[in-house]
Order: sequence, then structure tokens, then C-alpha cells
Amino acid sequence: MTDQTITTEMVNMYQKLGISSEVLLYCEDVLNTLKNRFEEFEQKAEYNQLKVIRAMQDEQVNATHFSSSSGYGYDDAGRETLEKVYANVFHTEDALVRPQITCGTHALALALFSNLRPGDELLSISGKPYDTLEEVIGIRESLGSLKEYGITYAQVDLLPDGSFDREGIKNAINEKTKMIAIQRSKGYQTRKTLSPYEIGDIIRFVKEINQYLIVMVDNCYGEFVECHEPSDFGADMTVGSLIKNPGGGLAPVGGYIVGTKKCIENAAYRLTAPGLGKEVGASLGILQSFYQGLFMAPSVVCGALKGAVFAANIYERLGFKVVPDRNEPRYDIIQAIEFGMPEGVIEFCKGIQAAAPVDSYVTPEPWAMPGYDSDVIMAAGAFVQGSSIELSADGPIKPPYAVYFQGGLTWYHAKLGIINSLQKLVDAGIVKL
Ligand SMILES: *Cc1c(COP(=O)(O)O)cnc(C)c1O
Repeated sequence: MTDQTITTEMVNMYQKLGISSEVLLYCEDVLNTLKNRFEEFEQKAEYNQLKVIRAMQDEQVNATHFSSSSGYGYDDAGRETLEKVYANVFHTEDALVRPQITCGTHALALALFSNLRPGDELLSISGKPYDTLEEVIGIRESLGSLKEYGITYAQVDLLPDGSFDREGIKNAINEKTKMIAIQRSKGYQTRKTLSPYEIGDIIRFVKEINQYLIVMVDNCYGEFVECHEPSDFGADMTVGSLIKNPGGGLAPVGGYIVGTKKCIENAAYRLTAPGLGKEVGASLGILQSFYQGLFMAPSVVCGALKGAVFAANIYERLGFKVVPDRNEPRYDIIQAIEFGMPEGVIEFCKGIQAAAPVDSYVTPEPWAMPGYDSDVIMAAGAFVQGSSIELSADGPIKPPYAVYFQGGLTWYHAKLGIINSLQKLVDAGIVKL
């Protein structure tokens, strides 16, 4: 590390933010090895940026599309055009992109409830779904679950190497099976994240067994990480949250479903009411943030990926287990680091929190959260509550004491957060450089 790449002013500025020159130089050293990796992310971001711009041009987005509608929201051209833009970006027949979809779980629940009927079976082929879906499905008893409506659930786990269990899937599909669910991201598990290409292969496989099966992919945290999305490879519905990747940090709420005309029609009839469907839903002045967020999303995701790989390289070099490891390809923006002790998770989260633009003076503490079987610590200083495309970290206080972190609206903020996490670990005597 030399003065050529890092100026005295820069060192001073980091010092003002609590970063010692020792920690800074250690991190800059790691950073110098990542040029090629970053270049690869930038190329994908460039491609995705062009894809989004072209979709906006194709659909002739204009300034009137940012205006507000109220009441029923009939003839809201901005809302209709935005949905065309999403369908264009994801190469699907149709899209439902709404502020009335309150979060990712809601979007997924909507996709499930609207396309399944009593007597149908849902089959998850990527193992246990995301925690919040357990209540939606009825794996954990809950009011209003699919189970309560007589919709059954079956599951095929991934094989130990993280790939799909084709034999198991073939055996599990029966005459009741109506929908196949695939979760791309690992969520809070330690399995590998699935690539859109692997997902495409398995979609072909299940459609060969029964071409009428509906395939739904939970795409949360995966959007714009690759040049292709699951919708490019035959997913009937691809679903996600707008306070993650595709909202670009600007969308203050919302979810999306992109897919076939039939599936989207069902989803729209369930979101509003039979007969009304997509024709209603006031946009309440929120549309500019949806368009602009989508426009920013490829760059934001690129910054988040740089942060994830930067952290993986720093902590792997220090001897911690990181998932994915520093060289693995990335199919989502999440990085897990195993500290093997509670203090590691806590100090890491303190570092992320203290580097935030909002609530930086708050000290995160582990606490008992509903739905979790151990205390959980969370760090977030976000402009949008709970937004995890913004730099955020959380970890359950139980073995293997792993922290999961993701996001960063800019690479520079992600970088500061990660450097600060290391500073806290060094200050606490957990890490020696
Ligand atoms: C975040 C997430 C969800 C749920 O989204 P919320 O907006 O938190 O409700 C579902 N699945 C995966 C894989 C996620 O990462």
C-alpha cells in the first residue's frame, strides 16, 4: 500500500470516521487484489443498465407517468406503463408492480394464494422456504394459511452439494401438484444460492414431467446480479420486493410479480378483487420513485456486490469462514461470515451501524424477536425502514455465530461499513491484523 493510491486527505477523513490507518491500509491491500472481480460486476451492471433504459424507451416512458392518481386509480397510465417496463425488463407477458403489495412476503403470498385452489399441492424443490413463508404455507400453524384453505405442501430438499434432487422431485410430483416453488437466494441458510441457469435447467426438467405445472421463483436479492433472470428461463412467476434490489433504494414500499398473462391476472384479481384486477390501485404519487429506483438498481446492486466480495476477502484472509467464499460466483447480494463467537457478530453489527448515514449513534443490541428461537442482533441505518438493499446486517446469537449482511446504496458506503466492522473487531481484541 502506497501513498499513490491513497492520499493523506483520505487517511485523515477515514480517521475522522474512527478508522485507524492500520485497518485502512489492511483493507486497501485487500481491495487492490479485487480489480478483475469488480470489473466483472461492472460489466453486468452496464448490461443491466442498458436493458432497463431500453425497456423504458420501448415503453415510451414520459414525465406524465410520474404523476399521482387517487381514489380508484382508474386509467393510471404511469402505473400501467411501469408494469409494461417491468414485463419488458424481465421478458414476461405481464407484470404486477404495486405499492399495495406491502413487502416481499406479501408478493409471494399473493402469487401462491392467487394461483392455487383447494385440493392443489404446492411443492418446494429448494428445501425449506424463507422463514416468513412457513406461516403463509402453514408449515407453522397460522390463521389464513394455505393449509387452512385445503392446499397441501410438500418439500424436496437440495442435495448435500446444493444441487436439485431430480430423483426426489420426480417422485414427489403427483396428480395434486399444481405449483413448484423455487427460492433463489439462500436466505438465512448456509446452502448455496441458486443461479438463474440452474433454475432454468430444473424448470425444463419439471415441465417435461408435466407441462402444466406452474413454476414460481422467489427472486428476492437476486435481481440484476446476473444478466439473466429466472423469468428468462421459463419461470411462470418471478417474485420480489421493491425494498430490495429492483427498488434501487428509492422505492419506499412495494413488491412485484412478473410472469405469464394468466398468472398475473389471477394475482391481480386476488390483490384487488375479482372483476377489478389491474384496473384499480391508486399510485398516490409514488411512481417516480419506482421508475427511478429501477433505473438505479443495476448500479446499486453492483455496489452491493463489490461490498459483499470485499468483505468475503477481508474476513477469509483473517481466517473466518465466509459464505459464499471469496472466489465463488455470486447469484445474490448476501454475504455470511461465521465468527464462532457472539462477540464477533455483535462487534460486526456495531461497525455497520456506526457507519450509517441515519441512526449512526445507536448501538445495536441482541434481543428476542418474534419467530426466532434465539436472540437476534440487527444493524441498519436506513432511509427506508427495513430496507435491505441499504447496508444492513443481522445475526442470530447462536452457533455458528454467523452474521448475514447485504446492500449498500453506494459502494463507498458499503466499503466504509465493512472497514468499520473490522475496526470494531480489532478494537475489541477479537481480530489481530
Ligand atoms: C426478504 C426475503 C423474503 C421476504 O421479503 P420481506 O420483504 O422481508 O417480506 C422472502 N424470500 C427471500 C429469499 C428473502 O430474501
